[in-house]
Amino acid sequence: MNTVTKSADLEPWQPQPGDVLLVTDIQNDFLAGGSLAVAGGDEVIPVLNRYIGEFAAKGLPVYATRDWHPAGHCSFHEQGGPWPVHCVQGTYGAKFAQTLTLPPDTTVISKATLQDQEAYSSFQGTDLSDRLRAAGIRRVFIGGLTTDYCVLNSVRDARQLGYEVFVLADAMRAVDVQPGDGKRAEEEMASLGAHRITLNGLAA
Ligand SMILES: [Zn+2]
Repeated sequence: MNTVTKSADLEPWQPQPGDVLLVTDIQNDFLAGGSLAVAGGDEVIPVLNRYIGEFAAKGLPVYATRDWHPAGHCSFHEQGGPWPVHCVQGTYGAKFAQTLTLPPDTTVISKATLQDQEAYSSFQGTDLSDRLRAAGIRRVFIGGLTTDYCVLNSVRDARQLGYEVFVLADAMRAVDVQPGDGKRAEEEMASLGAHRITLNGLAA
């Protein structure tokens, strides 16, 4: 299994028309010092910036998703949910990291915006699917936070919708509420037919 995964990382890839880059939830609350800080979360930012640069240089679309909860969201502890208060609309914690270099024409997708509904997939309860269809997107490149929640669930939906999916293995991190969640998520994404890529595989 490891051998297969490692060779897949070296699979050459090159962004082309019909591709979109989905930068998932690079928000202050998921980063160091945030209310729901993900271990190593900050490390993906410079890597994502390089992917963003590759897409932007070719005029290809970059989308940034964000958790965008109302106060008192059902996913918070005080409402009986699994998470501490995080990414409340309009707060510093909900802002994208300042060091993330999003192009000016980035499309922002806000999710889990209703008080009584959780959404881990960027396709759930958003117009992402309509936008991608309208833009003629065929291949979805996805990285960010977190591997075992929003990235995994977005990959499930993207595959269900028929997109070819590329997971940025060097630009995502897991919450790992249960040890191994991130690893299992990566295995599931591979079993769904998502390609696993890294910057090392970028064709010259
Ligand atoms: Zn959330």
